[in-house]
Amino acid sequence: MTEETKKFVHLHVHTEYSLLDGSGKVRKLLKRAKELGMDSLAITDHGAMYGVVDFYKAAKEEGIKPIIGCEIYVSEKSMAIKEKNNDIYHLVLLVKNETGYKNLMKIVSTASIEGYYYKPRVDHEYLLKHSEGLIALSACLGGEVQKNILNGNIKGAENAALFYKETFKDGFYLELQDHKLEEQLRVSEELIKMSKKLNIPLVATNDVHYVKKEDWKSHDVLLCIQTGKTLDEENRMRYQSGEFYLRSPEEMYERFNYAEEALLNTVKIAEECNFDYEFHVSKLPNFPLPEGQDHFEYLKQLCEKGLKKLYNPILEELSERLDYELGIIKEMGYVDYFLIVWDFIRFANENEIMTGPGRGSAAGSIVAYTLGITKIDPIRYNLIFERGDALVKLGELLEG
Ligand SMILES: [Zn+2]
Ligand SMILES: [Zn+2]
Repeated sequence: MTEETKKFVHLHVHTEYSLLDGSGKVRKLLKRAKELGMDSLAITDHGAMYGVVDFYKAAKEEGIKPIIGCEIYVSEKSMAIKEKNNDIYHLVLLVKNETGYKNLMKIVSTASIEGYYYKPRVDHEYLLKHSEGLIALSACLGGEVQKNILNGNIKGAENAALFYKETFKDGFYLELQDHKLEEQLRVSEELIKMSKKLNIPLVATNDVHYVKKEDWKSHDVLLCIQTGKTLDEENRMRYQSGEFYLRSPEEMYERFNYAEEALLNTVKIAEECNFDYEFHVSKLPNFPLPEGQDHFEYLKQLCEKGLKKLYNPILEELSERLDYELGIIKEMGYVDYFLIVWDFIRFANENEIMTGPGRGSAAGSIVAYTLGITKIDPIRYNLIFERGDALVKLGELLEG
């Protein structure tokens, strides 16, 4: 195989956001990936997504394609059963598109809110309903397929694999890992057989928990902090030394020289994952109106109704002020925002729920006043609508 074809993407990466388990800083992982000639990198922290935005932004800055994901926990039985005998399994999920991102957020949130028992968990039933837009990898030795193999239950392992294959519409991969653990070699042998038998593709990963090989020592300290042990204690959780780092593509090809397809599949998966954030785009909800009704005209009518109720006579300056404010609200795209706030303040008033008179610059708006959102007459108290104008007036005062 030529150098050119030795392309590989790490799809199973724990960052510093896998608290007390991952020691790789987001920025350092990305820089290292770039140094090693890789153009994409995934983030798959344990049960949480709070690192994904930091990771995404840093990756964009480093010129690396970010792949958003999570290594979640799946309960064997219903997540409502919060008992020790309800085993949990690991599963790696990667986001393909916006739908997948929304589903992953739902999965991770529900796991914490509804399924929490020692770990945030969801169950098969929940995954079935939220699998669209996601790719799943069978994870480490803690994965459902792997655990069943280790327990000698090949039938159970196959059933689990078939469940995930169906759930993720062929976006499910059996994950080969090799951290020089005897158990892993045993499991991998079965996974390769199963891949052929059930027609499920393979993928090779390294379960990255730190950046460089030599970082295993500081990572070991972190594990001791997590488990409340000291370094010299014999009987404690530890990882095979110097195996859980960000390997180069060459190292991955060497280690998995028997499974080229599994290596190439990392590139294929990375190409399928194309989710981008839209920062600084306001995502205000739409205020539902009957078909054909114009949102701006509706808002205007509400304000004019309020104007008639609150002022008598309606001087020209009042109509001018109202038109001016409405023009700016329309221009800035806040028509629906005002309708929504009008709606819930109205609901509160009709149901005797107390609301305040309005605060900050909102109190300087005749639109807000005529809609009943605020209770202060901005004309009577000479309150101004725009903050920029306030600064000009303040400047005039200081000069004067
Ligand atoms: Zn795992
Ligand atoms: Zn992992």
